[in-house]
Amino acid sequence: MKIVDMHCDTIMRMALSDGKISLRENDGHIDIAKMQKGGALAQFFAIFIPMMKMKEIYGEDSSYKYFNKAYEVYLSEMEKNKEFILPAFNYEDIMKNKEMGKMSSILTIEEGDPVQGKMERIKEFYDKGVRLITLTWNFENCFGYPNSDDDTIMKKGLKEFGIEALAYMNELGMLIDVSHLNEGGFYDVAKYSKKPFVASHSCARNIASHKRNLWDEQLKLVGETGSVVGVNFSSSFLRDGSNFSTIDDVVKHMLHIKDKAGMEAVAWGSDFDGIAPTLEWVDYAGMPKLEEALSKHFTPREIDMINHENALRVIKASMK
Ligand SMILES: [Zn+2]
Repeated sequence: MKIVDMHCDTIMRMALSDGKISLRENDGHIDIAKMQKGGALAQFFAIFIPMMKMKEIYGEDSSYKYFNKAYEVYLSEMEKNKEFILPAFNYEDIMKNKEMGKMSSILTIEEGDPVQGKMERIKEFYDKGVRLITLTWNFENCFGYPNSDDDTIMKKGLKEFGIEALAYMNELGMLIDVSHLNEGGFYDVAKYSKKPFVASHSCARNIASHKRNLWDEQLKLVGETGSVVGVNFSSSFLRDGSNFSTIDDVVKHMLHIKDKAGMEAVAWGSDFDGIAPTLEWVDYAGMPKLEEALSKHFTPREIDMINHENALRVIKASMK
């Protein structure tokens, strides 16, 4: 048990399947057996809010209603699998679960829309066990603006509520996630957050030009703030024009992030079950193949840092 993976969309698959897909066993990237085989220590499970489907299905305050629906699915899966995996709310929980031989699950929200500009909602989500919010997905919301091809949008900073929310999340002990956020928002998080943050599922923009990837200047700031980047396994994030994710591509991004942000910034952010299924190492059970490839470029100590030390350091500093 050694791998901390900072992002997957497995809950979304389950929530949208009307009970047909279970965490115990399914045909996606992540299930209990695959996690055990791959060496999982802790998995961040995102409740991704599919904004494009919201309003017509759920009406007013739709993303909040959807969150609660997906949350029930998450709780029931945790209950059904408690002999293998337990929810964790901080670093100590992960260690306790590990001592019991169990994997840990950390609940996150991808897309801040359910917050609806209300601090008390952030508290409510914290009380429900959410320990990370990906501030935006691909739309403007109460926190700020998403990554965009439009330079004006890309450069806008966080909204006033977004900046205030950073302080509140720091105080509560909730991780701030800049994946999907625009550049202006990223720089505001780096400036205003008093705790390290994460780019839970992003790659390096100088290697692949996906607009969600981080420029070298951003990577440098990630390093300077003691934050981490979880490398995303999506082929489009790894290589321009690619529709098959290769092990080599992942290694290349990790080497680049090491070079620009420092060894302390490199981590896993698979995006399993949120990306096309075509990966050279197939699914979570194939993680040892990635480790084997890393061993040709990184020392055993550095591989430990990638696998869990870096992510755990940020969890310890920013989550309570
Ligand atoms: Zn995402």
